Amino acid sequence: MHRVWNFSAGPAALPTEVLLQVQEELLDWQGAGCSVMEMSHRGKEFTGIIEAAEADLRELLDIPADYEVLFLQGGATLQFAQVPMNLLAGLADEQSADYIVTGAWSKKALQEARRIGQVRQAASVEVKGEVADGFTRLPRAGELDLDPDAAYLHVCTNETIHGVELHDDAALAAWVPAGVPLVADMSSHILSRPLALRHYGLIYAGAQKNIGPAGLTLVIVRQDLLGRAPAGIPTLMDYQVMAENGSMLNTPPTFAIYVAGLVFQWLKRQGGLAAMQAINREKAALLYAAIDASQGFYQNPVAADCRSFMNIPFTLARPGLDAEFLAQARAAGLLGLKGHKSVGGVRASLYNAMPLDGVRALVHFMNDFAARHP
Ligand SMILES: *Cc1c(COP(=O)(O)O)cnc(C)c1O
Repeated sequence: MHRVWNFSAGPAALPTEVLLQVQEELLDWQGAGCSVMEMSHRGKEFTGIIEAAEADLRELLDIPADYEVLFLQGGATLQFAQVPMNLLAGLADEQSADYIVTGAWSKKALQEARRIGQVRQAASVEVKGEVADGFTRLPRAGELDLDPDAAYLHVCTNETIHGVELHDDAALAAWVPAGVPLVADMSSHILSRPLALRHYGLIYAGAQKNIGPAGLTLVIVRQDLLGRAPAGIPTLMDYQVMAENGSMLNTPPTFAIYVAGLVFQWLKRQGGLAAMQAINREKAALLYAAIDASQGFYQNPVAADCRSFMNIPFTLARPGLDAEFLAQARAAGLLGLKGHKSVGGVRASLYNAMPLDGVRALVHFMNDFAARHP
């Protein structure tokens, strides 16, 4: 068998231990005589699986009792619409929602929300005209124009494409006007570190980066934000209805929930999110050190305090070397390193399932490649 070091931004690597357990249980899940894919979502086996997944997630993220955990579908992209459908569309016409734009994903979230209701750009740090690095930092407090009556304030706490991460939940929360719920797209760094969930009214994440297989979307929402949707909302789009039905108004993505549950158990065996944070910091530090020590051969444009521990984009200063770098990396067993099509260059995603040894292999290759191109 041949397994590569997989740096893909998403769908991304899963822990080998989890895949082996899936393989082991595939034909006969714990004596059920069939796979999880083939069993009723209403039966006692699957009910046990989804309840255990939620309980483990609650333990990992220390989720307070007044927050609901929803296992949904449609990806983070559907949340770009579902959030305003639930939290904005039911309010009076003059109310709007605030968006802070720190990268491609928060910009998309704002554009999609415009289709649903009134939105305001409360800040943007985009530098127009820069090709590869239009977003390189978070806004400073003085750059924010926040509406104290906003329906909510939306942020993306880790911009997957630009590699800009918000590391301090409390510092962000300190900006937010009293009573305005903070909503965050955490798709690409959820479960990478402990989270002060209390600061947020709602968080969401597509599963395929740091949770499990594509097809599952996680929403964690404070109960007081339920029931704000207008009467005409499609049933399946209504957070309150989904919460009342235990995410099972219709058939949920059962296999993806099962695999996510195995990932949660794996995270607990690793020592939980504080332990993951320590290893994720170490992995990121190793790669940033290699970039910064390369005397400009490799470059990452992001401000030091906003550099992502999960997604690390970098460019090669010498033009025309990208294709050779990527081809040789692939030949060395280092996959998924091509930068997003909108920014080019290289991107290494160091999600939880990427071990330190994988990052060491990448750094070794990078140093070697630089030495061979003096
Ligand atoms: C990948 C990603 C998305 C889009 O996710 P889908 O599940 O494909 O809709 C949105 N936001 C962020 C931050 C992402 O990383």
